[in-house]
Amino acid sequence: MSASTATGTIATAEHARPGYCGRFAPSPTGPLHLGSLLAAAGSYLQARACGGRWLLRIEDLDTPRVLAGAGDAILRTLEQFGFEWDGAVIRQGERLPLYQAALETLDRKGLVFACCCSRKELAALQPAALEEDSFYPGTCRNGARHTDRPLALRFRVADVTVEFDDLLQGRCTQNVADSIGDFIIRRRDGLFAYQLAVVVDDDAQGITEVVRGCDLLSNTPRQMLLQDALGLTRPAYMHLPLLTEADGRKLSKSRRAVTLADQQPAASLWRVLQWLRQQPPDELMRGPVRDLWSWAIRAWNPMVLRNTREIPLDAVQQSA
Ligand code: GLU
Repeated sequence: MSASTATGTIATAEHARPGYCGRFAPSPTGPLHLGSLLAAAGSYLQARACGGRWLLRIEDLDTPRVLAGAGDAILRTLEQFGFEWDGAVIRQGERLPLYQAALETLDRKGLVFACCCSRKELAALQPAALEEDSFYPGTCRNGARHTDRPLALRFRVADVTVEFDDLLQGRCTQNVADSIGDFIIRRRDGLFAYQLAVVVDDDAQGITEVVRGCDLLSNTPRQMLLQDALGLTRPAYMHLPLLTEADGRKLSKSRRAVTLADQQPAASLWRVLQWLRQQPPDELMRGPVRDLWSWAIRAWNPMVLRNTREIPLDAVQQSA
């Protein structure tokens, strides 16, 4: 996917945006870690600086990856860090009929087909040097070859270029048909896929702006295709840089990440703000976390992160 410089400005503390609604949507596959704290803080600050609402959604659809108790643990950690969300927390596992209805809408439009291809079969067909994700070559587009196997449902992708202006990453364009192909909206194990559920929920919750990590940037064109097909309004998107290991890997949940709950919230949040280039005053590092939040909401300026996709952890730790 390609992106180029954004030139626009966005609202800050001085520019309240009536009707703004943001969200944080963690998957409960492990405890909240520094990377997800950064995404949570960015979306929270953006919502509060705009005078908007901030909702929480637990994305627990991928049941084989869900860790028992992790959703509640994430909520407790967020509370401990002084996040204040609006309304009730939504859990995707309780909303399956909504995803089913969206699937049926797409099906009625002829945009869904069943696919029997196994992961192994598809892996064997992968063209070399793919940009990202795995490419689906359209094998079952005109009918599944084996109907006695568990079938996935795929969204029939039109050959169009999706274009949008990410608030930090600039102009993004992707032809999903060329780079990803028809993608799964209900898996072979019967679970609804993230792409479908996220689009349904962002709409149902009235989200006006999605602020999340850059690891999800390449998912956005797929989500926009679904929004268009379902007749939903596209929210605005802001993709924050990702904390990465020094070698460029995304900060994993298994390393360094797991100790958040034991940290002093103000000290950890102070570091996150520093990584977000907000320059928090030193004295707020040891104070109550609510003082840090009220400073950060007033001072929030995401535009200093423009065109930044990665924050290498070792580099920032040494300089912090
Ligand atoms: N549940 C996703 C994750 O934890 C985030 C989804 C989103 O923000 O769109 O990576």
